[in-house]
Amino acid sequence: MMNNQGNQQNAPVRQAGVYMPPPASYDVSVPTTGSNGNSNGTGDGYQPIDKKILHQCRHKAERRWYRRLVVLNLLIIAAAIGFFLYAFEDTRTYAEDVYNAVVEEMEDLENVEDVRDADVEKLDDVEKEANDLPDSLLYLLEIVITVVAIPFVVYYVYAQYRSMSVCITPKTYPEIYAIVEEYARKLGMKKVPKIYMIQGNGVLNAFSTFIPFKQYIEIYADLLEVAYREYHDMDTIRFIIAHEIAHIYYKHATMHYYYAIMFSQMIPILGSTASRTREYSCDRLAQLLSGSDGIDAMMALTAGIHLYKQVDHEDYIEHARTVKGFFIFCWNLVCDHPITTKRVLALADPEKKSGKLY
Ligand SMILES: [Zn+2]
Repeated sequence: MMNNQGNQQNAPVRQAGVYMPPPASYDVSVPTTGSNGNSNGTGDGYQPIDKKILHQCRHKAERRWYRRLVVLNLLIIAAAIGFFLYAFEDTRTYAEDVYNAVVEEMEDLENVEDVRDADVEKLDDVEKEANDLPDSLLYLLEIVITVVAIPFVVYYVYAQYRSMSVCITPKTYPEIYAIVEEYARKLGMKKVPKIYMIQGNGVLNAFSTFIPFKQYIEIYADLLEVAYREYHDMDTIRFIIAHEIAHIYYKHATMHYYYAIMFSQMIPILGSTASRTREYSCDRLAQLLSGSDGIDAMMALTAGIHLYKQVDHEDYIEHARTVKGFFIFCWNLVCDHPITTKRVLALADPEKKSGKLY
């Protein structure tokens, strides 16, 4: 996602001052014809970028943190199963108790004409016992239900987005579609990911997400205004789209990636730290794909789409260097996106391949 604070997002355009080109080692692919792909506008003129170069854009700690979360995830699942097996006798006893209590109560009720207060109390006890599931069974049930429910949930959400958004195609916002197509070619993707524009009522955001075997991008309408209304700023849009398609390329937005860390990523600090590594990776790859430094995109998300062009980049970077201290450290630690100041400092220093996690 593009959020610029905590769990929000961002993107860029170039302005006066501090534009810095991607690192020399980043061989930015160029179209063989024209500035937006080949002359027929299909994007076929773009050659895939060397995978080693794409790999170099990853934050140095991303894979390490992903492995940690995968291991933790397995441990959580193993612990739940182990706890269930360990307490299996309790669970069996619980089931028998509930069953016996229900049978006994039904027999009692058949033998008396009036339900006395004592019977009502006994019924309440049975109900309470039935609701009081053993922890071991409860944890295992929660895990099983969550795992099974995920595909249904993502299809449901996808249905909502499709019904509420405009699909960007070669005929609808063709300039935007051409950008997605260009990046898909450069990344060697077999298919051009679907991209939808959704009304955000002022929210500035974009994100990539998934259903089984398919990824797609959503971009909020207000963000597109910087390209079509406010500043005709395609650089910012290019960076934002590049950031989102980077998530797809690195497979952050896939079912198997999600399943592998679905429980561990909810652990405070650990989950957010791993997320920050992914955001840095995608910012770096977005610089490579778009040729933009990405700072204007961050400013658009920070200052808003009407004012971001007036932010002086050098001045902001000077300010960003002063934003530090214990509480800044604490705030950044729990954010799933690097705080904007750290993110901008990383974007402004492409020679340093990995942004600061803490
Ligand atoms: Zn992101």
